[in-house]
Amino acid sequence: MTDPSIAENFDAVRARMDEAAKSADRAGNDISLVAVSKKQPEPRIAAALEYGHRLFGENRVQEAQERWADHRADYPDLELRLVGPLQSNKTGDAVALFDVIETLDREKLAKAIVKEADKQGLMPRLYVQINTGEEDQKAGISPADADAFLETVRETHGLPVEGLMCIPPVSEAPAMHFALLAKIARRNGLDRLSMGMSGDFETAIRYGATSVRVGSALFGERP
Ligand SMILES: *Cc1c(COP(=O)(O)O)cnc(C)c1O
Repeated sequence: MTDPSIAENFDAVRARMDEAAKSADRAGNDISLVAVSKKQPEPRIAAALEYGHRLFGENRVQEAQERWADHRADYPDLELRLVGPLQSNKTGDAVALFDVIETLDREKLAKAIVKEADKQGLMPRLYVQINTGEEDQKAGISPADADAFLETVRETHGLPVEGLMCIPPVSEAPAMHFALLAKIARRNGLDRLSMGMSGDFETAIRYGATSVRVGSALFGERP
């Protein structure tokens, strides 16, 4: 039932990550591989779990609940990350399911997370999403507002922020966006960077990514 090519894909992506890390004088095992499982057929996910992978990303709360709620009990070492936009009214479900929310991007959401974290006695690890390309259709804090937003989230709302996340514009070379994210993180005392996808994770590693979010290079094209 499981697909042998999935294991090969994981080995190949990991080897490419190690190679990129080496050429940047970094240790490959410092960089986490978040396998983005959104919209992928279940057998491919089963193959990844059988291979031993435990770190997955999803971009929609409800889809993630349907896929992962039952797996949690079977895989206690599973780590789930929300990498897509979070509506405030889904915050309770997101806090209950995800270990990490990578898309904190507005104060209303920060308040909702505080409330749910208190209520549930669970605090997810948090990344602030930065809209490095200042695209209207994309979520995230604009680079000019990043420092003030981080201060509000940390000081006013008391939320721990682990790092920053970005999705560069599809039509631009990603390097300058990765460099910008790294710069904003550095001046705010953050050392975790979620950046890089199937098409550009090696570049992201060169610019300091500590986790890459890879979907199609691991699982094949989404149907
Ligand atoms: C879908 C998605 C990915 C993975 O994209 P691939 O190109 O398939 O690797 C990474 N990050 C986010 C936020 C996504 O929505």
